[in-house]
Amino acid sequence: MAVGELDRAMQFLAKLPGLGPRSARRAILHLMKRRDSLMLPLAEALAAAARSVRPCTTCGNLDTVDPCGICSDPRRDPQAICVVEDVADVWALERAVAFKGRYHVIGGVLSALDGIGPGDLNVDGLVLRAADPAVNEVILAMNATVDGQTTAHYLADRLASTGVKVSRLAHGVPVGGELDYLDDGTLAQALRARQAL
Ligand SMILES: [Zn+2]
Repeated sequence: MAVGELDRAMQFLAKLPGLGPRSARRAILHLMKRRDSLMLPLAEALAAAARSVRPCTTCGNLDTVDPCGICSDPRRDPQAICVVEDVADVWALERAVAFKGRYHVIGGVLSALDGIGPGDLNVDGLVLRAADPAVNEVILAMNATVDGQTTAHYLADRLASTGVKVSRLAHGVPVGGELDYLDDGTLAQALRARQAL
């Protein structure tokens, strides 16, 4: 039985996606062996990130400033908004250097199974932004999963009233595929070959 401090840390680690109690135990023991080179710097980095990083109130991207660096960058094309499920997808598209417009993170996908409905996602904010006359295209870059595609259709319906052009990624995205796992070339190609909805 670990001492209370380690037990507490393990219980938090075990809540992370992909980690269970067993992985959490291994992680905490690994950290203890590298107390000065890894554990303390990690704890400080996490505390600093928790203090200073917030979701952008415009697009949902994470940054230390609000609006975020992408929303406030005058070199980004204000006419195109790329809609993604999560911030990890913004990072993937930025790594691929494939898109010069701005983003909108809706924060997940519709899922009857997980009880996630439209009210749980940042859809109203998207419709509001799409209605701006300066915006003329919304690209739906959802993952090629069943829930991702259901969400894309729902968003296309909601956006219809704004009259904005709506497109989605081409099927360079493999069925079941998640953007974050694609190589940069495939992702860039899927974006270039996007199709009107
Ligand atoms: Zn932003």
